[in-house]
Amino acid sequence: MLFRVLLIKSNFLFNINMRVKLSQHFLINKEIIKKIVSKSNLTKKDIVLEIGAGTGNLTQELLKTGAKIIAIEIDKRLVSKLKERFGNKKNIKIIQADILKYEIPQSITRIVSNLPYEISAPITEKLIKEWNGEYWCVLMYQQEFAEKMLAAPGVPWFSRISFLINTYTKCKELFLVGRENFHPIPKVDSMVVELHPLKNFDEKLIFFANCLFNHKNKTIKNSLISSRKKLNMEKKDISMKLEKVNKEISNKKVWQAELKEIKKVYNVFKKFLP
Ligand code: SAM
Repeated sequence: MLFRVLLIKSNFLFNINMRVKLSQHFLINKEIIKKIVSKSNLTKKDIVLEIGAGTGNLTQELLKTGAKIIAIEIDKRLVSKLKERFGNKKNIKIIQADILKYEIPQSITRIVSNLPYEISAPITEKLIKEWNGEYWCVLMYQQEFAEKMLAAPGVPWFSRISFLINTYTKCKELFLVGRENFHPIPKVDSMVVELHPLKNFDEKLIFFANCLFNHKNKTIKNSLISSRKKLNMEKKDISMKLEKVNKEISNKKVWQAELKEIKKVYNVFKKFLP
């Protein structure tokens, strides 16, 4: 008896942990679902990647547009439910996969998703990195994260993700979504954004930005010195290289620097980066 109680309790805790880890908060407000789909501007010619299809509420509305849907979901149990719900539809492919390990097909024209918030940053980086020159996205994020994405240099929450979005995309707010529109109700509100990746990704620039933004409240000079191990450079090398940059720039706090100022510093360091 005691063993059964313990087993039920541990299953219950496992399910709760899994739900939190996989950000399983399902959108239940039909009007909001319709608004996301309408903002995605889909036609029958589109091929849509839906990340984290969950119980299929957004998927169902996407299917009504006649577009071809590729629905990715990591959770086996949800994949079975999605197959039960949509198995008879011709314009859907349901794939059990971790989006971070999934190679985005070249044919995709849109990405539409109520994202798993726990992995918002790596997913966004992936979407920009693997961009095929065609697709654009309508994505729901945790509001606080989306505000960082939309931040311009000079606001204290300007961060690594703001730099990435400002450098490689056009991104705009579409609308806010309150937490009461989800089941189970999360602890945060959400924002839907439109994201257009724009150009080829430069891995070295992102590595350099990571080094800078790891210490974003320090000056550019001190931040690079703090990252010297990662940069594989001595303190004196960093100071010498910075002599080629206007002193005013190297003494600016990282979050206060303009994008073009960060790129100026990057251009000096670029060929020496590991
Ligand atoms: N699209 C559904 C909706 O709007 O109600 C569900 C959205 S829910 C916020 C996020 C979904 O992403 C969950 O179903 C979760 O299981 C799934 N998920 C979490 N991590 C994932 C990953 N690495 N790859 C694919 N799906 C993932």
